[in-house]
Amino acid sequence: MGMPRWPQMDESKRCRAHKPDGSQCGRARSVGSTVCASHGASAPQVKAAAARRIQEQKATEIARRGVAGLDLSAYSDPVAALEHAVGLTHAMALRLAGLVEAIPDGQLVWRSDKSGEHVRGEVVAAMKALDSLRAASVDALRLGLESRRAGVLESTADMLLRAFDAGLTASGAGVEGRAKAREVFRQNLKVVPGEPA
Ligand SMILES: [Zn+2]
Repeated sequence: MGMPRWPQMDESKRCRAHKPDGSQCGRARSVGSTVCASHGASAPQVKAAAARRIQEQKATEIARRGVAGLDLSAYSDPVAALEHAVGLTHAMALRLAGLVEAIPDGQLVWRSDKSGEHVRGEVVAAMKALDSLRAASVDALRLGLESRRAGVLESTADMLLRAFDAGLTASGAGVEGRAKAREVFRQNLKVVPGEPA
């Protein structure tokens, strides 16, 4: 191996391509790309992808600045943390949608003879944010429904116990018999505890 050209530089900025001898290229990556110009970064489709990634990163940064302060560690309750996350993801998606809104219609998608059709990075970022929002919402909804269902089961159990007690009283059963009947009834009733309000 010859003189290493990459002793001090950040590996994340190094061209990922390999030379014919198998060693990794020593040049720096082109901005937004994973390779240097001589390893394909100047090809139209690679340039287009790089431009899109830069747009996407910038849009995401701008949106993040708008919803700064996401710290889920402050929440000991996962449901509260999730609600907070849904709120922030929502704000993030709205900010990105605003950025996309500001782009003239004719510029949302652009065409190049050499590399075809491209969607702007802001649009990609907005779509990803909507996807996260959807996923977070589904999680939140599922948790909400689970706890609600548990609450319904518990209140139904209370109601059944009261009805059973009333029936026992009306039947004129003795004190001992009624106590035994209640015990058996409770044992057979599997109550799912609801969340404390
Ligand atoms: Zn290279």
